[in-house]
Amino acid sequence: MSVDYRATVFLPQADHFPMRARLPKREPQTLATWDEMDLYGKLRAQSAGRDKFVLHDGPPYANGHLHMGHALNKILKDVINRAMQMRGYDANYVPGWDCHGLPIEWKVEEGYRAEGRSKDDVPVTEFRRECREFAERWMATQIEEFKRFGVEGDWDHPYATMSYQAEAQIVREIGKFLVSGGLYAGTRPVLWSVAEKTALADAEVEYHDHTSPTIWVRFPVIKAPTEELCGANIVIWTTTPWTLPGNRALACHPDISYSVIRVDETYEDSLAEFGERLVVATDLLSSFVGEVGIKHYVEIAAIDGKKLSEDVVCNHPLREAGFWVRSPVLPADFVTLDQGTGIVHIAPGHGTDDWLLGKQHGLDIPETVDENGVFLEHVPLFAGEQVYTPKGKEGGANRAVIDKLREVGALLHRGTLRHTYPHSWRSKVPLIFRVTPQWFISMGKNALRHKALAAIRNTKFYPPDGKQRLYDMIANRPDWCVSRQRRWGVPLPIFVHKQTGEPLRDPDVIERIATVFEAEGGDAWFDSDPQRFLGEAYDAADYTQVQDVVEVWFDSGSTHSFVLEQRDDLKWPATLYLEGTDQHRGWFHTSLLEASGTRGEAPYEGVLTHGFVLDGKGHKMSKSMGNVISPQDIMNEKGADILRLWVVAADYAGDVRISDEILGFHADAYRRMRNTLRFLIGTLHDFDPSERVDPAEMPELEQWALHRMAETAQVIETGAQGYDFTTIYHHLYQLCAVDLSAFYFDVRKDALYCDRPDSLRRRACRTVLDRLFHALTAWLAPILAFTAEEAWWAHGAGPEESVHLRQFPEIPAGWRQDALAAKWHKVRQVRRAVTGALEVERAEKRIGAGLQAHPVVHIADDALAEAVADVDLAEICITSGVTVTREAAPAEAFTTDDAPGVAVVVRLAEGEKCQRCWQVRPDVGSDPRAPETCSRCADAVTHLGMAAA
Ligand SMILES: [Zn+2]
Repeated sequence: MSVDYRATVFLPQADHFPMRARLPKREPQTLATWDEMDLYGKLRAQSAGRDKFVLHDGPPYANGHLHMGHALNKILKDVINRAMQMRGYDANYVPGWDCHGLPIEWKVEEGYRAEGRSKDDVPVTEFRRECREFAERWMATQIEEFKRFGVEGDWDHPYATMSYQAEAQIVREIGKFLVSGGLYAGTRPVLWSVAEKTALADAEVEYHDHTSPTIWVRFPVIKAPTEELCGANIVIWTTTPWTLPGNRALACHPDISYSVIRVDETYEDSLAEFGERLVVATDLLSSFVGEVGIKHYVEIAAIDGKKLSEDVVCNHPLREAGFWVRSPVLPADFVTLDQGTGIVHIAPGHGTDDWLLGKQHGLDIPETVDENGVFLEHVPLFAGEQVYTPKGKEGGANRAVIDKLREVGALLHRGTLRHTYPHSWRSKVPLIFRVTPQWFISMGKNALRHKALAAIRNTKFYPPDGKQRLYDMIANRPDWCVSRQRRWGVPLPIFVHKQTGEPLRDPDVIERIATVFEAEGGDAWFDSDPQRFLGEAYDAADYTQVQDVVEVWFDSGSTHSFVLEQRDDLKWPATLYLEGTDQHRGWFHTSLLEASGTRGEAPYEGVLTHGFVLDGKGHKMSKSMGNVISPQDIMNEKGADILRLWVVAADYAGDVRISDEILGFHADAYRRMRNTLRFLIGTLHDFDPSERVDPAEMPELEQWALHRMAETAQVIETGAQGYDFTTIYHHLYQLCAVDLSAFYFDVRKDALYCDRPDSLRRRACRTVLDRLFHALTAWLAPILAFTAEEAWWAHGAGPEESVHLRQFPEIPAGWRQDALAAKWHKVRQVRRAVTGALEVERAEKRIGAGLQAHPVVHIADDALAEAVADVDLAEICITSGVTVTREAAPAEAFTTDDAPGVAVVVRLAEGEKCQRCWQVRPDVGSDPRAPETCSRCADAVTHLGMAAA
């Protein structure tokens, strides 16, 4: 009678952790269980009193479904928070939202327009209420979408810049600048959108290609130190003809050389005139004469920029037509030879460089266009002309100016130029610089710039080059324009004295406003009697109440004060701010300025930046390109853990690509790691702690596995400290897929399935597998938040009810054995040669399974021979025998570059096939208790009491 030996083989049992993950179905169930058990509450309770790790959330804007950029950002934050929690910190994550501002106003106004209403027909507080409701709706939607990514945090108590508490604190923060004198009223050119009728912050500006008219214009010299210059025309070149009415100077570079030429011959359609004298930069002469159609000229004088900028004055080219102003030539470092003539027309109201130069030289700063981009009444010739229409179309202003210049003979040439030009991020309308009364935070007053730069020096940047980037921006930025002529925001808490024009700088008034806002929100500013805020010390009749709101970047720049400072469960400064690289200009920047101005320090200890999400070919995703991948679709088709793998697998410091193909690749990597967990769960289903073996008594292979765990723990510690989860992930993947599944598990399947349960080898292996399961589930938990939990629950091990309530395992120092690892590195090299040889044999159909083989391994290399001398190579190579020889290999032996000095000849193993373990051994049949098996199996079967009677 033969025995059914299958029943005596210890196969893994992992039906409760199926190979098919079905993540889209399973993950929402896991989320529900976490909710039921109040995992967030348990995490907080567990970590009470621990050192705090605070990753302060940069608030997304509450106005739409989440896109891949949100997914990258929030998942990366979650991976870091979970890892820090498991490293022993209290890593409490409080998500937040940016709620005020133009995009929401725009959406609400769109609704009005669709109903044929105008915003101006609606009371301010009603309009603000609708904006608030709009933001609330999208916050609720985004909370659910973020939770679905597996992001853990205080979703029941997020922060919002529109909360009354936040609005009140923003008033207090701006009030600090007001009281300290750092906030002032000024006029200066700001980038202005005629569509939204507002100044835009740098971060609200997008650069797109735009076709502009270009003109070359003569400025007649009326005063000059040399005869050649007197009566000549200095030529400027500009892409904004409409700014010429605002011209008040010309600028040249003191280090550039200039030429005075006399025109001798022109092409037929040229506007240049025979005999006239023109002044341009010498290095641009040849391109200049080509452009304006001058055939022959004589250079009659040279003059350096220093001299040119000393005592030369021109008339405005439209002087006779009404512009009775003169334009002195001034020295300026920003003049270049990149384009034009090397002489720049200066309109102090229409550019930052122009304005600064004008300030420096005491020039008049004329206001020429209104909020609609229409020339004001007082502007001669052009009053009523429009620069851009609200839809972004070219108005009549450029044409009118060009026509007039031509009419008076000042136009030398005209053309067009395709170049990048600032546009509104929302309406996409081209922007203009215009002078407006605004409120500014001074970079110089109270040494704000100096403090902010010092704070950058004390901040750690990941990657490090972010430091210089932010430093340069702060070092060179102009004063911060914090006012907006809008409605949906925190009111600027300012009263301006009607007589003196001075803002009221009284901390009591600020506090009174903040207290009201705390109870009623910022709406109170618009529907209260101003006397309520002024108290008894001032008479409302003496003051004008400012109706502007605070720009939203001041709101988000203040989150550190109303979130980090005001919540007991967080700390100030934050450990880390983590956002896309664009936030050097945005949130990192404004938070730094706000905190430096009010507290003298940065609100963060570290700043980590990530890149942007691109499609599979490296293009930006956009609706018009049809290449948008939505995270919601990935949730429904593949699951959050696949997306989480994608986040950590990529080098997120740079731009990150995504496509179906890339996701498929990560889904495959996921399956391999899931398989590793599944093998552990299946094999350990009946593990009993009493089986454990002390590492010192373990076979070398087990000691090697423990060494790999010690190495992994080190990689994780180092990686987590530097927020480098890419290195961690790739190490874990290598460990799971290559070291464990394809090597260690493979080798040990025979011992696990067929050895006597009490064999040292099997017990040692199961001891290691148990350690591995505990370590791997913890190490993978921050990344595969759902799957690590599923594995943890499936195994049912440990007192913690969630894997996320665990800590990373402490790995005993003694597990690390570098000499042993070096030896096994060589053993695996030899193994690769044998495995390669077996593959050839299988492909040639000379053997079916490796267990039919008995390879002869010729080793020429001394070190390799020494490494395998005391190793059971048949066990390691999963064959039924191996013969190692130092003899020279025959020519037909198999070799591989992977293992130089090793050559393999595969022979068939001698003996019978054991019906239990399938090894081919000479001792099969030698034990009458189980005559179809090898002696090892016969012993095992007897031990189990299942031997043949
Ligand atoms: Zn056997």
